[in-house]
Amino acid sequence: MKGFERLEKEIQQWQENGVYRPLTELESDQGSKVVIDGREVIQLSSNNYLGLTTHPRLKKAALDGVEKYGAGTGSVRTIAGTFSMHEEFERQLADFKHTEAALVFQSGFTANVGVIASILGEEDVVISDALNHASIIDGIRLTKAGRRIYQHADMADLEKALQETQTARTRLVITDGVFSMDGDMAPLPDIVELCEKYDALVMVDDAHASGVMGKNGRGTVDHFDLHGRVHIQVGTLSKAIGVLGGYVAGPKALRDYLIHRARPFLFSTSHPPAVTEACREAIQVLLDEPELIDKLWKNTEFFKNGLSRLGFDTGKSVTPITPVMVGTDSLAMKFSDALLEEGVYAQGIAFPTVPRDQARVRTIVTAAHAREELEQALEAFARAGQKLGII
Ligand code: PMP
Repeated sequence: MKGFERLEKEIQQWQENGVYRPLTELESDQGSKVVIDGREVIQLSSNNYLGLTTHPRLKKAALDGVEKYGAGTGSVRTIAGTFSMHEEFERQLADFKHTEAALVFQSGFTANVGVIASILGEEDVVISDALNHASIIDGIRLTKAGRRIYQHADMADLEKALQETQTARTRLVITDGVFSMDGDMAPLPDIVELCEKYDALVMVDDAHASGVMGKNGRGTVDHFDLHGRVHIQVGTLSKAIGVLGGYVAGPKALRDYLIHRARPFLFSTSHPPAVTEACREAIQVLLDEPELIDKLWKNTEFFKNGLSRLGFDTGKSVTPITPVMVGTDSLAMKFSDALLEEGVYAQGIAFPTVPRDQARVRTIVTAAHAREELEQALEAFARAGQKLGII
């Protein structure tokens, strides 16, 4: 169309380079198997770590929420869109995380942007891990604060950044708890020690750790027993929690400040009842059914060991996120296509999501996968990997 020629040309280049990806359409619910193009395949690409997207208790809570409060909320939280369920959920979350308070955002993305962009000013400095999530990067782009990026998980580089920014009013050090593309964990105890030494605040993004790490899935702060020493915990309700949304857990002053200043919170309509009520039930399921997390970790160990035994390079992962390193962008996409032919859906991840020539097929097993499904998936990886000369 006229006016879009530049975009069309760029898209054509992506097609020529083999990195153009049409959206994959699921024709079923988000289970251990999904239907794509009329075929049932094993799902290894969702963040549905505990299988909660289809848990009967969450589905019932969502339906009951609609019956009680309706389909939508009709307003932002600060005008007429705060319902009792929102406040109750935030108290439940704060209890769960052992923090003074919690605040829910529309997504994990907007939670990060909302916090970072609102609490820092020109006199402050934000110090961020090089591999932090895009939403942290965008939050940083929106602050007037100074910015320093430290090499991924490199504590000497973090210390250097802390030494060089001592005149700042507030330093906020931000790290993902679990890194979404490599599945490695931040050295949070070391980060906390350094921040205590240099009087800086710590913020952790537990998007991939909520419901996965720590007792009942309380996250990395609980995993490392750092309660009270990490100032801000951000996370998502869209992955292991199985629904949608983001949260910030921390001091009451932080919650009050965000309610008045965080733009995504102030200017976007509150979560509908189905979402909030399903999230509330999800936290209760985490408390009632710890066996889901046990199964997630057993499946993770089985699948990771299987991939290594086959000769795949699974990088530095210590979590259910297991990248299968491939190299070039186009090979990752070919590998993903070959896996789909073999009955496994595992997305190829290429530049700019990961650095050039570090393309991979990223897998996430869940508690919902049966052992036989993981065995079948490993056989598919072996066949596709051999066909393309990856192993
Ligand atoms: N932080 C990290 C580390 C993530 O991986 C994601 C999800 N891609 C988000 C934040 C954003 O969460 P949400 O999908 O709820 O917006």
